[in-house]
Amino acid sequence: MVEVVVNNQSRHQIHYTACDSLMRYADLLGYGEIHTKIDDKTGLKAIIAINNLSRGPAIGGTRCVAYQTVDKAIEDVLRLGYMMSYKAAINNLPHGGAKAVLIKPKVIKDREAYFEKFGEFINSLDGRYITAVDSGTTTDDMDIIARRTPYVTCTSKSGSDGDPSPLTALGVRRGMEAAVKFKLGRDTLDGVHVAIQGAGHVGYYLAKELHALGARITMCDVNVKATQRCVDEFGVAICHPEEIYELKADVFAPCALGAVLNMDTIKRLNVAVVAGSANNQLAHHHYGALLHQRGILYAPDFLINAGGLIHVAVIYDHGDLPKSVEQIKNIYHTAYDIFERSKHENIATNEVAERIARDRLK
Ligand code: NAD
Repeated sequence: MVEVVVNNQSRHQIHYTACDSLMRYADLLGYGEIHTKIDDKTGLKAIIAINNLSRGPAIGGTRCVAYQTVDKAIEDVLRLGYMMSYKAAINNLPHGGAKAVLIKPKVIKDREAYFEKFGEFINSLDGRYITAVDSGTTTDDMDIIARRTPYVTCTSKSGSDGDPSPLTALGVRRGMEAAVKFKLGRDTLDGVHVAIQGAGHVGYYLAKELHALGARITMCDVNVKATQRCVDEFGVAICHPEEIYELKADVFAPCALGAVLNMDTIKRLNVAVVAGSANNQLAHHHYGALLHQRGILYAPDFLINAGGLIHVAVIYDHGDLPKSVEQIKNIYHTAYDIFERSKHENIATNEVAERIARDRLK
């Protein structure tokens, strides 16, 4: 072995430390299985991480992204698969969580061969993993995968058009309705002022839902075109991205980035409810308690943004579109029960939701 020394550390040592910490991360998140497949002929470099199988076969989409490093891809797949377990458990789906990432090559020379090979890889796991569309994959890709394995949904035959955002927005709207009822005693969102951060896929559809229900909407986005579309179509007001945290409104809906609820922003919030789609809104788990202390009702992100996951799971299990919509609407009742328990036990809503999910995953 040749040892190259950089900054007084051998490269070999640096490499070992990165792998070691990823394995420890996987262990901490309770991973049972991590599978990889490399196929030189098609350029496939795939990782499937199965987080939990205690509730049933694990389900989660396939991301096809040009990751800068393999470590980044592994970190992403571990983080996302773990979140899927929590989303499935809190929404009582008969599934565990998993995720797949494909390290996208510069050029996919033959997309059919590439996704057929990936389909064979999924099939080799004997149904423990079921795949679906995610960033960088499409319904057409799922159709190709389906030639090699039955463990796939979001195909052109399964009745979903590949974009989960409208269904995610529906779930967020239901969680928001439950929070507004619980906190403000209002039966509908008519006249409720909602501040939406982010006018991207989910932000747009959420504004559409809320506009139809008579809510008053203020939005921000770093992309002016995105907010302008919502001004033109729904007559929303706009504010500067930094002003959104202090805006006086009834609800703050984070639909852009993770970690937006932190020590700085929570102090500035001027709302009664936080309910949005962004993943990992709390910069740290303990900030849920800070919101609780401030009397701001937080609708846990992994509960109310699971509309897309509920849809793919119900479509896979039952092939029934109306049933998936009904189940997404049911987020209202799950959220309301969690708010009641949080009040009764005087603990943060995210803590209640995490405990329920953890118990169900045992
Ligand atoms: P998106 O990329 O389409 O939209 C995000 C928007 O946020 C973009 O328009 C972007 O310009 C804007 N943005 C970025 N930084 C901002 C800032 N500092 N202030 C204001 N706006 C900013 O993403 P999306 O699909 O709409 O998802 C939004 C969030 O919801 C993400 O956190 C995502 O992980 C989460 N989520 C999405 C889905 C889904 O179905 N798309 C499902 C579950 C969770």
